Amino acid sequence: MLSIPRPQIDPLEIFRRCATAQSVRLEALLPAVSPIIEQEYVAYQAAMELESVVEFPRSSKVGSFEKDDLLSLYSDQLVKKSGVCREEYERLLASAPRKKCPMCSESTVTALDHHLPKSSYFRHAVNPLNLVPICSRCNEAKKHTMPNAEDKQFMHPYFDDFSGVQWLDFVILQESPIEIEFRARRPEGVSDRAFAKIKSHFSRLKLNELYTSNAIVMLDDLKETFSKFHDDNDWVSVRDELSDHLRRSSRRKDSWEHAMFSVLCDCEWYIEGGFKNI
Ligand SMILES: [Zn+2]
Repeated sequence: MLSIPRPQIDPLEIFRRCATAQSVRLEALLPAVSPIIEQEYVAYQAAMELESVVEFPRSSKVGSFEKDDLLSLYSDQLVKKSGVCREEYERLLASAPRKKCPMCSESTVTALDHHLPKSSYFRHAVNPLNLVPICSRCNEAKKHTMPNAEDKQFMHPYFDDFSGVQWLDFVILQESPIEIEFRARRPEGVSDRAFAKIKSHFSRLKLNELYTSNAIVMLDDLKETFSKFHDDNDWVSVRDELSDHLRRSSRRKDSWEHAMFSVLCDCEWYIEGGFKNI
């Protein structure tokens, strides 16, 4: 998972600009509605910082400002090319480092996701803190999941940062042919709530499937690389190459590469020819 700095965009300003551009009726409602929305945004930030949003209340309409009005602000003023806040939409989309999806760290960002689904948390339809760049695979897997239980939550790239710790385990299930899987691991010093979120994020986004298939491709490439050492039983060279991979992956302790090479570097069976079994 990749952490992203919180957007430096004034959320209330976005809300006001969207409503003003949307219609005279919504603009007229702003003096009554703005203080409520402002409170709601403060509550959102506080809930996210608490590591759990299980008890965060679902949205209700704000006086005459209905659910559809709030949703239309997003679709008309942020998503549409002609929208008054389209520039902010683009800026949020571009905030993912190297365009990588922060939820899986693998695929390319294609959209903005409402971290709390806008269908039920519509007061946050245009709240920049609730708009997170995401890839189409994670977006599809996350769709319609309500964060109303500890095992239904996702890491939030603006609030959670587990990039400095290893929270993945790599397991060899079978040696011939090689079968592997990844599991969520509890890093030291992580609270029960944070670990529940890690596990839920990992399983709901089906990260084992994604990481396993990418790891199999890499193991296949390594088989080719290591085959030249096989005739001479040159296991020292195999070990050296694996150590290089581990060193390179150490920059991202939470990556599947780091989990995998941590295990392979100490795996005599793999180093001494087991690599052929892929
Ligand atoms: Zn993704």
